[in-house]
Amino acid sequence: MPCEPVPLPEAAAAGETPYPALPEGVPPLTTLYLYIAGACNLACRHCWISPNFDPAAASGKFLSLEHARKAVAQGRPLGLSSVKLTGGEPLLHPRFRELVALLREAGLGVTIETNGTLVDEELARFLKEQQVGFLSVSLDGADAATHDALRGVAGSFERAVAGTRALAAAGLRPQAICTLHRGNAHQMAEVVSLARSLGCGSVKFNHVQSMGRGERLKEEMGLDPEEVLALYRQMERELAPECPIPLHFDIPFAFRPVKALLKGDLGRCGILGILGLLSGGELALCGAGVNVPGLVYGHLETDDLAEVWCEAPGLLELRRLVPTHLDGVCGRCVHRDFCMAECVAQVFFQEGRLNAAFPFCARMSERGAFPASRLRAEAPAEGPEAQAHTQDASTAGDGLGALPADKP
Ligand code: SF4
Ligand code: SF4
Repeated sequence: MPCEPVPLPEAAAAGETPYPALPEGVPPLTTLYLYIAGACNLACRHCWISPNFDPAAASGKFLSLEHARKAVAQGRPLGLSSVKLTGGEPLLHPRFRELVALLREAGLGVTIETNGTLVDEELARFLKEQQVGFLSVSLDGADAATHDALRGVAGSFERAVAGTRALAAAGLRPQAICTLHRGNAHQMAEVVSLARSLGCGSVKFNHVQSMGRGERLKEEMGLDPEEVLALYRQMERELAPECPIPLHFDIPFAFRPVKALLKGDLGRCGILGILGLLSGGELALCGAGVNVPGLVYGHLETDDLAEVWCEAPGLLELRRLVPTHLDGVCGRCVHRDFCMAECVAQVFFQEGRLNAAFPFCARMSERGAFPASRLRAEAPAEGPEAQAHTQDASTAGDGLGALPADKP
C-alpha cells in the first residue's frame, strides 16, 4: 500500500456504529487523511500523488485552516477521532503549527508522514509537545547517492538524516520508511542499521507501486512479486530476529506466515472508515482523488461533510463492493474481510475499478504461486453470513482465529 495505516478505534474495528448521525449501514468516519500540501520540496520518482515541485511553497496549494476547522466540526458527530497529515510534504504548509494545534485542541489523534527534510530541533520539540502520536520519515537508502537518486534532489539524504535525529532528540521515535526497488534492495540491512543509529522506533519496507510517478519507475526499476516476497522472507529470517526495533514489510496477509499474523503485525487499510481531504477542500477516496476526478465525492466549500459521507454515490458504491463483492483471488481469500484487497486506490489505478483483485495477489495467483491454504473452496456469501463464514474459514482452515485490530 502506498500509505501507512493508522490505528482504527475499537468501535470502528468492530464494525459498530455508535454515532446517531449515521444511518444504518454507514460506518463511522474514524479518520481523515489530510493532504494538506499539494506541493513538495522534493521530486521523488516513486510518488503516487505527484504534487508540484515547489520548495518555496509559492503555489498556494495548501489546505486552509477554515476547511480544516469545518471538517473537524462536521466530522466529530460521525466518529472522527484521528487525522493523518500528509501531502505533498506536509511541513511545507505555511501554517503547519497552527493546523496541528487546532487538531490537537479538538482532541484528535495526529499522525504525520514527512520526508523529514524540513524538521529542525525546534519543530521536533513542538511536535513532541503536541503529543503527535505517530510519525514516519522516508529513508530510501543507506547513503546519500542512493536516497537522493530516488528523491530527485541533492542533499535530501543529509537533511532527512538531520531531521530524523532532531525528532529522536526531542523524544519522538519516528518510523523509517524505505521504498525498495532494484537500486536499493541490497541495502535493507544497512537501512535498518542507519535507522537504529538515528533513534527510529521501527522500520517499514515498501516497494515501488505502479501509481502516479511510480508507474515509470516501476517499469524501469520495479521488483517482481516473487522478488518482493524473497526480500520479505530475507527480512524475517536475517534481520528481524536480531533487531531490537520492530521491522515491517508491505506484503499482503496471504503471504505472511500464521506466526507473524498471530504476533499482531497487522497494519491494514481501514478505507471504509477513512475519507481524504485534499488541499483544495475536495473530499475524496484518500489521496486517489488528486489524480482521479471520479474519486472526488464532494467539496467542503459547497457540501456538508455528513451528507457526503452518508450519501455520496461513490462512497455507497465503495461500501457495496468492498469487501463482499471483491473479484478474483481476493473474493476467494480467507483474509478478504479484514484485508479488503490491501489498497483499493492501487487497485483502481491499475485495474480501473474498485473491486478488482489486488494486483500483487492476482499476479501470484496467475503464476500458481498464491498459497492454497489461504483460499476458500467457494466464494463466501454476503452480509452477516459472510462474517460467520470468514470466522469459520480462518479459524478452521488456517488456525488464525479472530484477527486483532490493526496498528501502524
Ligand atoms: S488475495 Fe486480496 S484479500 Fe487476500 S491477502 Fe491478497 S490482497 Fe488481501
Ligand atoms: S486505499 Fe488509500 S488509505 Fe488505503 S492503503 Fe491505499 S492509499 Fe492508503
